Amino acid sequence: MIRKSVHPHVHKIIHILKDHGFQGFLVGGAVRDLLLGDQPKDYDLSTNATPEELKKTFGRQARIIGRRFRLVHICFGREVYEVSTFRRKPSSTERQGRKDDDGVMLWRDNEFGTLEEDAFRRDFTVNALFYDPITDSIEDLVGGRPDMDNELVRAIGTPEERVLEDPVRMIRAIKLMAQYGFKLEAELETAIRKNASQISLASKARLFEEILKIMNKPYSFKTFDLLHDFGILKHIMPGLDYEWQYENKHIVQKMLQVRDDRKINCNFYSNSRVLALATICFEPLRQLARIHTDSEEEIWKFKDSVDSLVRKATFDFFHGVVIPKFVRTRLTGIINLIPRFMMTKKRAILLNHKDYYYARELFLVWLIATDGDLSILDRWPKKRLEQTPHHNKKSHPKRRRRRRPKHQGLSK
Ligand code: ATP
Ligand code: MG
Repeated sequence: MIRKSVHPHVHKIIHILKDHGFQGFLVGGAVRDLLLGDQPKDYDLSTNATPEELKKTFGRQARIIGRRFRLVHICFGREVYEVSTFRRKPSSTERQGRKDDDGVMLWRDNEFGTLEEDAFRRDFTVNALFYDPITDSIEDLVGGRPDMDNELVRAIGTPEERVLEDPVRMIRAIKLMAQYGFKLEAELETAIRKNASQISLASKARLFEEILKIMNKPYSFKTFDLLHDFGILKHIMPGLDYEWQYENKHIVQKMLQVRDDRKINCNFYSNSRVLALATICFEPLRQLARIHTDSEEEIWKFKDSVDSLVRKATFDFFHGVVIPKFVRTRLTGIINLIPRFMMTKKRAILLNHKDYYYARELFLVWLIATDGDLSILDRWPKKRLEQTPHHNKKSHPKRRRRRRPKHQGLSK
């Protein structure tokens, strides 16, 4: 059926698992993609072997990761495959162990279970198919196969309960609509529209991860468009949601579309989070800066520093979603570089900058979205110059590693 499309490493892992008497399946997005004839970007595997048994079976190729939710990474050179042990939903008595349990929100389930229990703890039927590449067969315990054929996103269990249990599932359902053009079952759609504001209860860190995941796929515009339509976007990124008030598509939306097209058409498109966030914030920041001047070259030089603007924009945009400081600093750096593309002097500063590549890409996306003059970029090579004196390692003696301050050791 889809055996030929499965990566040989996945075959190998499942073969080894079976040889050692365990069960082993490919699960989640990879099965979905393969059934639709797409090549998966990554593979998740599921087994009844515990992390320790996996470690024993795969030896140095396996690494147990995570403290509470323990998974195993199996490595083939630089390629990593995530293998998780079947899990089940915790029972109500097990949940009582959690102090802040409100009876609705589910915390990450971490109790080992059976294949069946694992299928039923998953969110949607199309995400709960278990594929065995050795027998080329699918275990479908939840009716996901017919739903795939009908292009339908259906919750496993009662839609509203499953959404309230983990509001991030609302975004996950919408991603399936944007990516595959699937429809939502009526009851799930009603549950999402009714409970859209509950998304604010999800942890900021998870929401930040979701934003990055959306930006990593070439459906970002469609996904944010649907998230806006369902009334979810305003609770995650009010700043971005605001852009949907205009009748015609605003520049940010066009930039997202340009980025999506480039992701599809370029052989390689970086998943840099700084570039992703810059693509979302750049134009609104530019608009803020324009309040002070009309000159493109002067635009970033007014009294408010770009950093404070970025701080404000990232706060407004991401509604308090914590953007790590180093990401914000690099974001500021990239945005500061943009006016330099218009200058003829001091080319080297831009060309040698470590984020030149991202700044050029951001500027290119903005130029295309605004029907700007692309010939400006003719003078700027695609890649940063390598081995310039500044980056020539040999001309710099090796830096000594800084010692940790003593008090850090004492506080352990
Ligand atoms: P993608 O192609 O974006 O990776 P995916 O469905 O594989 O899509 P993952 O985040 O990799 O998404 O999750 C793997 C699988 O884990 C899902 O297919 C689903 O079965 C299960 N899963 C992930 N998140 C949840 C959740 N919040 N609730 C229930 N099951 C989940
Ligand atoms: Mg996946």
